[in-house]
Amino acid sequence: MFCGPRGVGKTTCARILAKTINCLNLKIETEACNECESCTSFNEHNSFNIHELDAASNNSVEDIRNLVEQVRIPPQVGDRKIYIIDEVHMLSQAAFNAFLKTLEEPPAHAIFILATTEKHKIIPTILSRCQIFDFKRIQGGRCRFSFG
Ligand SMILES: [Zn+2]
Repeated sequence: MFCGPRGVGKTTCARILAKTINCLNLKIETEACNECESCTSFNEHNSFNIHELDAASNNSVEDIRNLVEQVRIPPQVGDRKIYIIDEVHMLSQAAFNAFLKTLEEPPAHAIFILATTEKHKIIPTILSRCQIFDFKRIQGGRCRFSFG
C-alpha cells in the first residue's frame, strides 16, 4: 500500500514497480529494459498483465466482483498480473468486504498495489495484510518513501 498526499508520485511509482516486476529482461540495476514485449505493451497502454482501477469511480460491489473474477484468471504471457487500485479508501464497505478474501489469499500470480491519500479510512484488516509505504512531500516537490 502506497499512502500519502496527492501529487507525491504514488501512482507513478506503482506503475514503475508494476512495469519492473513484469519486465522480461531486467537490467543489472533492476530497471525495466523498456524494450521487451512486456515493457513495450505497457508503454503503449496495452498490457494484459497490468491493470489499473480507479476506486473513486469504480467503488461498487459489482466493480470489485468483476475485479475478483479477473484476478482468478492466470496471465497469458509472463507470470504475474498486477492490479493497481487508486484511491482505495473510496471503496464502499460492501466492496471492501467482497475484496477481503482475495486480498487475504490472492492467487500466486496476483500482486495488488493499493494507493490512498486517506490511510486512516482503510480498515485494519486490510492494513494488516499490506506492506505499507508512506510517501512524504519533500522540498522541491520530489517524492520519497520510507519503509513502514
Ligand atoms: Zn522490459
